[in-house]
Amino acid sequence: MTFKELGLIDPILKALADKGYTHPTPIQQQAIPVLLKGKDLLGSAQTGTGKTAAFTIPILQQIYDNIGSGKGGRKLKALIITPTRELAIQIDDNVTEYSKYTGIKNTVIFGGVKQAAQVNAMRKGVDVLTATPGRLLDLVKQGFISLKDIEYLVLDEADQMLDMGFIHDIKKVLKLVPHKRQSLFFSATMPKAIVDLSKLILGDFEKVSIAPEKPTAERVDQSVYFVSKKSKAKLLEHLIETENPETVLVFSRTKHGANKIVKILDKSGINAAAIHGNKSQAARQKALSAFKDGKTQVLVATDIAARGIDVSELELVIQYDLPNVPETYVHRIGRTGRAKASGIALSFCAQDERPYLKDIEKLIKQKIHVIAEHPFLVDPADEESQSSQDSRPKNNNRNSNRNRSQNSSSRPKKQTAGRPNKRFNSKPKSE
Ligand code: AMP
Repeated sequence: MTFKELGLIDPILKALADKGYTHPTPIQQQAIPVLLKGKDLLGSAQTGTGKTAAFTIPILQQIYDNIGSGKGGRKLKALIITPTRELAIQIDDNVTEYSKYTGIKNTVIFGGVKQAAQVNAMRKGVDVLTATPGRLLDLVKQGFISLKDIEYLVLDEADQMLDMGFIHDIKKVLKLVPHKRQSLFFSATMPKAIVDLSKLILGDFEKVSIAPEKPTAERVDQSVYFVSKKSKAKLLEHLIETENPETVLVFSRTKHGANKIVKILDKSGINAAAIHGNKSQAARQKALSAFKDGKTQVLVATDIAARGIDVSELELVIQYDLPNVPETYVHRIGRTGRAKASGIALSFCAQDERPYLKDIEKLIKQKIHVIAEHPFLVDPADEESQSSQDSRPKNNNRNSNRNRSQNSSSRPKKQTAGRPNKRFNSKPKSE
């Protein structure tokens, strides 16, 4: 199946060719024809499988066709709502790329920055807007945005958007958009309560579901270390120093925890930065860009970076703390193994996190490989005594990876990405 066979128009085919996409992914093959027919859609697919293009392309094509027949005019026709600012920026970047030969105008709005530039962009006329809910409603209230002409409404990461934190904002948005519209809900995970709620909001919809059996990205090798809370920092440091992966995304449950991890890594000369809700938007974007450009080796994030963030060739995701919501695990590990790449996901599980691990294994319908025989492995019964010892291995090469250059090209050559049980399971050679 080719993009042309999906009935896409030349300006979009040309943009896809520029991106180097040769064939549609499964979610694109299934969703694009349904959406081009104007149907509502509830789409569920593994993270990193090309969902953004699956919903963006049919919207662009329909807007382009309507502009051609004189039905368009420059009014806001499509609204894409996402939970995080970083994801909003990324989706808008994709819209820019896919629409570059169509004459369609797009922009993005999100909180945490001054609103003037966003208001100006809206004044100039926009067809497609990607937004986070808070700032969107704020600008609507101030009269800078009208949603009365919306024909296409997308909820990306719909499970999160329809969850407690966002549902009130979404209900407000639903009151502001016309009843007659095409609605598209997309997510990697679809808990039943959310599907039921979606059914109330969507009209006559089709469900497109890819690989529902195992929601976890297939190409990601997953392993878990049972480790005491106090030994987690040492284990992290040890893994980064001995394996020296080019890029590592580390998830921490709290903002304070993320800052603490960065401090510890900094002390060891490991180039790390944190991204979380207490940082200014400018700092968040700077940290993310430096990581995406390969200038920062380790990005320590709270769950604002768990969804959607696309870092090409992200080799390793480490869950320093296990999430208490099992779906979050799936989103976090989905930051690696994207498109056709493979990835490794390691989790650190302390004694009190064992129930979370059980819930995760139930959700993903598989047992996560336990890494045994590691110096930091802690007998759960012995967690306290073990954590009080300094079990750091005496690594003669400990300083060899320190003070890495900011320039990724000067890094040691990337090692072959092995299965985690080979690459991350061995005792340090110096032991
Ligand atoms: P998404 O799930 O939308 O975040 O996309 C995951 C990654 O796949 C992104 O890096 C996209 O640029 C890439 N991608 C999307 N569609 C295709 C395609 N048809 N062929 C190759 N890569 C794609």
